[in-house]
Amino acid sequence: MKFVFLGPPGVGKGTYASRLAPKLGIAHISTGDIFREEAAEGTELGNRISAIMKRGDLVPDGIVIEAIRERVKKDDCRRGFILDGFPRTIQQAKALDRMFRIDMVLNIHMPHDILIEKISARRVCRECGDIYNVADIQRDGIDMPPMLPKVQGKCDKCGGELYQRPDDKPEVIKERLDNYNELTKPLIEYYRKKGLLHEFQARTGPEKVIPQLLELLGKYKR
Ligand code: AMP
Repeated sequence: MKFVFLGPPGVGKGTYASRLAPKLGIAHISTGDIFREEAAEGTELGNRISAIMKRGDLVPDGIVIEAIRERVKKDDCRRGFILDGFPRTIQQAKALDRMFRIDMVLNIHMPHDILIEKISARRVCRECGDIYNVADIQRDGIDMPPMLPKVQGKCDKCGGELYQRPDDKPEVIKERLDNYNELTKPLIEYYRKKGLLHEFQARTGPEKVIPQLLELLGKYKR
């Protein structure tokens, strides 16, 4: 089972992928998480990546493709994976085509104003990357209750400190959305033409969404 989760930053790719992958016995691969780890290590490459991420720009294709090539060799990918945040450019998608046959691409949608509200309210565990959200959005047919930790400011899974990603601040969000519109959005057509695209409207919180997606993704079990 090999899936790509597509959609703008903050739409819920990471939240959904991190909950679905263990249930399906496949790996959750987030290039954002890989690069945040690299940046935290403070290597020369890590520092370069960190500067790019802080601006909200994309890491160069060559580095991203190499990171994926290495990651998919790991044992947890034996039964498949969900790619979260990769590919983000046509060149990355073509490189992926040369590596694997993807079963399905889930294109996750959300109204623009809700997206902005959700990204600004995202909190992430500094240790394990688990995702929370302090926004309570109930309007225009959207029912998204907050995803709060049991103890304020602490991750339920590992007790790590919750923080707001520097690139989730308003000035960087705009840059990230511009990059999404210019470089990543063309992938929707790319995968539609291949007959792989499945459109999904996110209107409720993960409690309702996860069972729906589990049923959908489960159909690709071999
Ligand atoms: P994410 O956690 O998916 O929002 O990614 C955070 C940041 O990591 C992005 O804003 C980019 O700077 C970088 N990044 C993650 N995935 C990719 C990718 N596939 N291509 C280029 N840059 C990426």
